[in-house]
Amino acid sequence: MEGPSLLALYHRIKRINGKTCTIESEGIKLKGQVDLVPYGKRLIIREGSRYIRVFFGMSGTAVTIKRRKGKPSLTLTAEDGIMLYFYGCSLRVLSAEEFQIYYKPETDIMDIHWDPLLAREKILAHPSEYIADILLNQDIFCGSGNIIKNEVLWRTMVHPLKKIEDIPSEKINEIIGEIITFSYLFYKARVNGSGIRSILNVYRRRTCPTCGSYVKKENLGLGTRVTFWCPDCQD
Ligand SMILES: [Zn+2]
Repeated sequence: MEGPSLLALYHRIKRINGKTCTIESEGIKLKGQVDLVPYGKRLIIREGSRYIRVFFGMSGTAVTIKRRKGKPSLTLTAEDGIMLYFYGCSLRVLSAEEFQIYYKPETDIMDIHWDPLLAREKILAHPSEYIADILLNQDIFCGSGNIIKNEVLWRTMVHPLKKIEDIPSEKINEIIGEIITFSYLFYKARVNGSGIRSILNVYRRRTCPTCGSYVKKENLGLGTRVTFWCPDCQD
């Protein structure tokens, strides 16, 4: 689940915020006032000075009506009867100190505190890295995932294996701007429930909508993540 999907999920379940809840999971049983905090690809459940970090992976979700078979990864039961069921998630409990170190909203591409100048500074500190790896670096673009990476490189016409030192300064700015533009399109598609296929131009596409060339697919970069790109439009 990339940042835009996580934020859309947060808005569907945020009515639990401020309610006194029982939190139950394997090895966890807490009761207190709960607040949810969306952060990058993760959702934080805050109860007092404790923080449960929830990672949804590819198939995890949270719903208010129990509709999946099997045991939820975690449940929240509010005193007024509202329930939240988390499925297919991995969890980690953080102390207040650990949370302070972990939480940097200025790096979150969907947060109002997002700082593009800080992102630019951090990108330029990695001159020999591939742009495909940089766009997945959560310390720079918290919440960006493989869909955002592929689509932003296509939209800015940059080859995924271009090194940062070989990308003109203006192009770096364009990439940073396009990360946000595309992420909000992605978010809107999730909120509307229209699906994201209509906003994808290269990710899992056969041909490039601009030039008609066959889209290439390979595991690229140090992270060897699957990458889709147009060999004619992106150089
Ligand atoms: Zn093309």
